[in-house]
Amino acid sequence: MIFLEVVTCGSKEDKWCGDCSKCLFVYIILSPFLDEESLKNIFGKNLLDKEEMYETFLQLIGSKESKPFDCVGTYEEVNFCVCKCIAELKSENKKLPILLQRYLDEVLSSKVEKAEGICEIYEEHLLKGFEVSNLNEDFEKLLNRALKRRKDGRTY
Ligand SMILES: [Zn+2]
Repeated sequence: MIFLEVVTCGSKEDKWCGDCSKCLFVYIILSPFLDEESLKNIFGKNLLDKEEMYETFLQLIGSKESKPFDCVGTYEEVNFCVCKCIAELKSENKKLPILLQRYLDEVLSSKVEKAEGICEIYEEHLLKGFEVSNLNEDFEKLLNRALKRRKDGRTY
């Protein structure tokens, strides 16, 4: 995870500021893959527990008209990761961070099953977007080479 220590959101202090849409986006996108401790080490706090970021959160998931100008992902990517986190935390009987709880209550307007179901819908949608046929030839070669290396157990 060295790149995360080097890369920043573009704040003046040369680190993740933890207050902007880019930080929140990256935090959300990494959430299904990293545990809370690792994320806190990178961002200094659990950004999903920052209620004052709810407006930004709504923009990222597409519930607000304007999308942040920073480099952020698609609504599908964000919603997928959010749903995946909720489903995982719920399955482990863990308390949801504030923003995820509000997403569940106010955006999905009820149950966990809905988060799980919606997670699958987004997954399907996302995977469709990544079919190899959609890649240009160079990327397809790169991807296949990387997949082969991985299959052979090589890490470089
Ligand atoms: Zn930031």
